[in-house]
Amino acid sequence: MMTSDYPLSRKPRMLFLFSDTGGGHRSAAEAIIEALDLEFGDRIQTEMVDFFKAFAPLPFNQLPKWYPYLVKVPEMWGLGFLLSDGSRRVRFINEAAWPYVRSASRRFAQQVSHDLIVSVHPVVNNPLMRAMGKVHRPYVTVVTDLVSTHAMWYNPRVDLCIVPTESARQLAVKYGMPNERLRVIGLPVAERFCHPVLDRPGLRARLGWPQDLPVILLMGGGEGMGPLEQIANAIAEANAPAALVVICGRNQTLKERLEARAWPIPTRVYGFVREMPDFMGAADILVTKAGPGTICEAFNAGLPLILYSRLPGQEDGNVRYVMEEKAGIWAPSSDQVVAALCDWLEHPDKRRQAGEAARALARPQAARQIARVLAGKVGVM
Ligand code: UDP
Repeated sequence: MMTSDYPLSRKPRMLFLFSDTGGGHRSAAEAIIEALDLEFGDRIQTEMVDFFKAFAPLPFNQLPKWYPYLVKVPEMWGLGFLLSDGSRRVRFINEAAWPYVRSASRRFAQQVSHDLIVSVHPVVNNPLMRAMGKVHRPYVTVVTDLVSTHAMWYNPRVDLCIVPTESARQLAVKYGMPNERLRVIGLPVAERFCHPVLDRPGLRARLGWPQDLPVILLMGGGEGMGPLEQIANAIAEANAPAALVVICGRNQTLKERLEARAWPIPTRVYGFVREMPDFMGAADILVTKAGPGTICEAFNAGLPLILYSRLPGQEDGNVRYVMEEKAGIWAPSSDQVVAALCDWLEHPDKRRQAGEAARALARPQAARQIARVLAGKVGVM
């Protein structure tokens, strides 16, 4: 029996706060909205707002544009992460930033009339809640980093904070989140990543990939980051008995350069691909930077991982997690990537074991579980 606390004429409204600083926040919000739609049809209204673009004052509203450049200097990013992490530091930063963001936050708060606010970004929560003052609106945060989550994520005033791993929960408690307001559910990923691949040969035929060789999928997040070109060259020059698929994401210059090259092993080069679940389903090994979204999608596909880089601080925990759970290898140079690949190509049983370990970490139901929790908060069941 379906129940609702709302009159038939009025559907509950949820506001999703995200920003395009990296691909992960948008993907998480979209995955939850999709799950809400699958579970509850049109009984809940949803809206997504990129708060930086829509409300933040200069220069903060430029952050989505600058982000790809900022993370190109990972050491600086790492230093920023390290220097700002910790409850006291976060309180200090929030206080220092408040005079600059106060009026924008108040303008934003006045426009929020939703029944539930769901934030998938660490930065917006303090200014918005502060601007809302005594007006209480149910507020849920969904943490989109896996393990080494920044203290900024954890605002003890939220009604509920959903985290992807037990390690993130422990960190949240350390940063002052009351345990009863924390739930470990998983990182929400889109539904199309949540089904096993039934016809790999068919998929490979459609993609034009060879049937008789292991396929190495090489990528660097949404922006095609890190030394992708160097690693692609090293794999090709090692004459690995495999085919290589390079995804350059939004890095158009890299795509053009790689396309112009003659490759000694069968190689396909792509820009930003929309069919990532098919690519992961058809590949045998994933070589990637340690982005949380990509890692969880690979878990769902049971794809063993070779991680060649990470954002210092923010993604250190992802590397640790993958290694400790034996789902992959940390190989921070092209020589190490080639050595790890050669080992897995020579010993398919090793890469199969890593693939099984990856699959064991998958939480394909996360988005739907989160959707059910959120729906419960607005009285839809
Ligand atoms: N992605 C995609 N197509 C591409 C490259 C990346 O759909 O060509 C997706 C990828 O599947 C993942 C997201 O972009 O969902 C990247 O998120 P992640 O957290 O791994 O890294 P970020 O880009 O946020 O640093």
